[in-house]
Amino acid sequence: VKFVYDFTEGNKELKDLLGGKGANLAEMTNLGLPVPPGFTITTEACKVYLDSGEEPAALRDEVSAHLAALEEKMGKRLGQADNPLLVSVRSGAKFSMPGMMDTVLNIGLSDTSVQGLAAQAGDERFAWDSYRRLIQMFGKTVLGVDGDLFEEALEKAKQAKKVTVDTELEAADLKKLVTTFKKIVKKEAGRDFPQDPREQMDLAIKAVFDSWNGERAKLYRRQERIPHDLGTAVNVCSMVFGNLGPDSGTGVAFTRDPASGHQGVYGDYLQNAQGEDVVAGIRNTVPLAELEQIDKKSYDQLMRIMETLENHYKDLCDIEFTIERGQLWMLQTRVGKRTAGAAFRIATQLVDQGLIDEAEALTRVNGAQLAQLMFPRFDENAKVEQVGRGIAASPGAAVGKAVFDSYTAVKWSRSGEKVILIRRETNPDDLDGMIAAEGILTSRGGKTSHAAVVARGMGKTCVCGAEELEVDTKRRRMTVPGGHVVEEGDVISIDGSTGKVYLGEVPVVPSPVVEYFEGRMHAGAEDADELVEAVHRIMAFADRKRRLRVRANADNAEDALRARRFGAQGIGLCRTEHMFLGDRRELVERLILADTEAEREESLKELLPLQKQDFVELFEAMDGLPVTVRLLDPPLHEFLPDITELSVRVALAESRQEPHENELRLLQAVHRLHEQNPMLGLRGVRLGLVIPGLFTMQVRAIAEAAAARRAAKGDPRAEIMIPLVGTVQELEIVREEADKVIAEVEAASGTNLKLSIGTMIELPRAALTAGQIAEAAEFFSFGTNDLTQTVWGFSRDDVEASFFTAYLEKGIFGVSPFETIDKDGVGSLVAAAAKAGRATRPDLKLGVCGEHGGDPESVHFFHEVGLDYVSCSPFRIPVARLEAGRAAV
Ligand code: PEP
Ligand code: MG
Repeated sequence: VKFVYDFTEGNKELKDLLGGKGANLAEMTNLGLPVPPGFTITTEACKVYLDSGEEPAALRDEVSAHLAALEEKMGKRLGQADNPLLVSVRSGAKFSMPGMMDTVLNIGLSDTSVQGLAAQAGDERFAWDSYRRLIQMFGKTVLGVDGDLFEEALEKAKQAKKVTVDTELEAADLKKLVTTFKKIVKKEAGRDFPQDPREQMDLAIKAVFDSWNGERAKLYRRQERIPHDLGTAVNVCSMVFGNLGPDSGTGVAFTRDPASGHQGVYGDYLQNAQGEDVVAGIRNTVPLAELEQIDKKSYDQLMRIMETLENHYKDLCDIEFTIERGQLWMLQTRVGKRTAGAAFRIATQLVDQGLIDEAEALTRVNGAQLAQLMFPRFDENAKVEQVGRGIAASPGAAVGKAVFDSYTAVKWSRSGEKVILIRRETNPDDLDGMIAAEGILTSRGGKTSHAAVVARGMGKTCVCGAEELEVDTKRRRMTVPGGHVVEEGDVISIDGSTGKVYLGEVPVVPSPVVEYFEGRMHAGAEDADELVEAVHRIMAFADRKRRLRVRANADNAEDALRARRFGAQGIGLCRTEHMFLGDRRELVERLILADTEAEREESLKELLPLQKQDFVELFEAMDGLPVTVRLLDPPLHEFLPDITELSVRVALAESRQEPHENELRLLQAVHRLHEQNPMLGLRGVRLGLVIPGLFTMQVRAIAEAAAARRAAKGDPRAEIMIPLVGTVQELEIVREEADKVIAEVEAASGTNLKLSIGTMIELPRAALTAGQIAEAAEFFSFGTNDLTQTVWGFSRDDVEASFFTAYLEKGIFGVSPFETIDKDGVGSLVAAAAKAGRATRPDLKLGVCGEHGGDPESVHFFHEVGLDYVSCSPFRIPVARLEAGRAAV
C-alpha cells in the first residue's frame, strides 16, 4: 500500500483515504488554484498506528521521498539554515471536526534557521514571532504542555512592554519570549524543544495521529455520530505567511451566507496574522468586503476562485486563505456547514441556477434540519429589554440562566436547569458546556469563530461577538451597556437568528415552518417567507420521489387533523388504551376486576357508546384515509390502583376501625392480578383472550362507527389491529370472534364495511413465524418499540435512564436502539418477517408504528426493506416525508 499522496495525486472523492482537507487540497491543486505544495499521509497509516502503536514500517521512507520532492519543488530544504522550508502539519479526518484536532505550524524553525528566515523575509520580528508560535503550538499539542503557561508568559511580556496586542511586541521581546518558552518546555515536558526539523515533523505527525483519540475528539464524534475507527489523515503543507506585514493577512470566506443562503461576499479577514488567529477568534476581524480596499488584486482573484469552486462543487464552499505579500494562497476548502434554514434555501437556489436537480436537492437537506426549523422562535410582539446585539451565528430562540463556565453549565443542566453559556470566546475545552447549554453567547469572534462553527454543527443557538457586553468569567458576571450587571443565574434570552440579546425570559412563538404546515401561512403568497417557500418546494420534491407512505400515530380527532395537515396519509396506530385514561379509567378498572358476568357486561355496555363516538370522530377526521385501530394493549397495572397506596388505605381504615370492605376486595383482586413484569404479562391479545367481550366490544364500536360514517356519506377506512401476537393461533381466535361481530353489524346496517384485520409484529416469535401469521393477517405493523425491548431484553421504561449512558460512553452503540433501529439485530428480524409474510400473502400490507417510524435513519432502513408505510407522531410527519423522499434518491 501507498501511505503518502502528493497534493497532485489525490482528488475530492478520496475523503476516506486522504480525509476531507487532504482530498480537497488535492482537488484545488488539480483545478489549477494556488495551493501551497505539500502531501497527505493517509488515514490507513493512522489506523495502522492506532491499532499497533507503531507507524507502518514503510511510512518513514515514503515521507522522506515526498519531502525530498517538496524540497526540490520549493528550492529549499526543511529547516535549511540560511533559507528554511517550513511546513505545517495538520490533521484532516473524513468528517470535519472543527477545533477538535491538532495542528502545528512553522515546523522547520530552530535556533539557527530562525536567523535564515529573518534574512530571507527581511523581517526579524516576523521570524522570531514564527518561532515562538512554533514552540508554543508544538509544546502544547505535541509535548502536552499546558497552553496557559505560554499564554501567561505572552501576557507578561505585553504587560512589561505596556502594550495590548501581540503585534506591538518587537523582535527583541519575541526573542526573549522564545527563551522563556523553551524553558517552559524543558521544565514541563522534561526535554528540550527539538532542534532537528525532521524530528519536529515526525513528532508532530505522531501527535496528530494520537489526537484522534483525544477526549475532545472522542466526545465530538459521539455527538456527531462519527465512527471511531476512521482515523485521521495528516497534511504536510509548505508554509505561506499572513503575518509578513500589512500586505499580508489571512481569512475565511463562504461562497454564500451560511446563515441565510444568500449569495454575496461573506467572510472575515485579518490583516497581518496567521491562520489560527481567525479561527480561534482571538483578534477581531474585518468583514471580507473590506479586503477590496486593502488589496484589490487578491480580492478579485479570490472572488473568481470562489465562483470556480461553487460551480465545481455545486454547493456552498467555505475557504481558508492567506495572502503573503500580495500573493493569494488557498489553504483549505470544503463544502461548508450551514444553518438548517440556509440548507433548504441553498438547495432550491442551486436548482434554480441549474446546478443541481430535484433529486440532488434532496440530498442537500435532511430531516434533522427540518426538525430544527420547526422549533419555536421569539415572539416579535413581546415586550423585550434588548441589551446587546452580536452576530447571528446559529439560529434558534434560547432562554436560560446565565452561566459563565462549562462546568457550571453541565452541573446545572444535569439538575434540570436551562442555561445559556456565556464566554468571552469558546475553545474546544468548552465543548461539554456547549452541549449542556440551550444556547451560547460570546463577546468576541466572528461567524467563523470556534463558538459559531461548533454551535452550527450541533444545531445549537449561538450569538457571538456581542462586543458591547463585558464578560467577566472570573467574577461570573456580564456588564451590559448602561451598567446593568447580569449575574450567574439571571435569566437571559438570545436570538441566534438576529443576534439579539435580551434580559429576562422572552416568550416564544411557533416557527413559520410549522405555521406553513398548519396551513396558516402559504407558500406562493406575496409576502411569503423565503424559508417557507424553500421548504414547500423541497417537500414537493420529496413527495414526488418517495415510495414509502407516511401515516400518523394519533388517537384523537385533534391530533388526526393536525397529522392530516402535516401530510399524513392515514393513521398507522390509534392506541385505544389512550381512550380509556382519565375519567374512563374507572370503567376499565371495573371491567378488569369484575367478578361476575353481569358486572362485566355492565361495564362493557357503558364503554361501547363512548368507544363508538371516539371512532366516529376519528374516522370523520381521517375521511377517505386508512385508520388502523389497535385493540386494547395496556400493561394491566396502568389501569389498576397502585398496590402500595391501596394497602396503606386498607391498613389505615383497619387501624381506625372504619369500614373498608370494598377496599379490601379491591386489594385482594389487585394482588391476584399483580405482575412482576407487567410488560411481559397480561397485555395485548392476551388480555383480549382472557377478558371475554372486551375485544368484541371494541370491534363492535369500530364497525358501528364505520357504519355510522357510511350512513353519513363518509368514507371510513378502518383497519383492526391485534397487538402483541406471538402465534397465529391467538390471532385466529380473535379473528373468528371479530368476523362474527363485523358480519352482524354489516347485516344490521346493510353495508359492506370492508374492514381488514391485521396484527402487530412486536415479539421475536411473531417475527420468526411471520409466514404462518400472515395466513390470518391482512397487514403487519411492526411495533419496533416492543420488538427492540424483547429482542435486546431491554426494559423500554428503565434502561435509558439507568445504564444507557454508560453504554453510549463505551461506544457499545452510538445511539439508543429505541431511537434509531438496530439494523443488524431488530432490523434483520423486521426484514426477514416482511419477506416471510409476503411469501405467504403477496399483497400483505407492511408498516411500522414504533417510535422508529419518525427517525430519519430508520426511515431509510424501512424504505430499503420494502415496507409500504411508516407511522409516527404528528409533529414528525414532515420529517418522515422528507426522509422517505431522500431514501428514494
Ligand atoms: C410498539 O411496541 O412499537 C408499539 C408501537 O406499541 P406500543 O408502543 O404502544 O407498545
Ligand atoms: Mg407495543
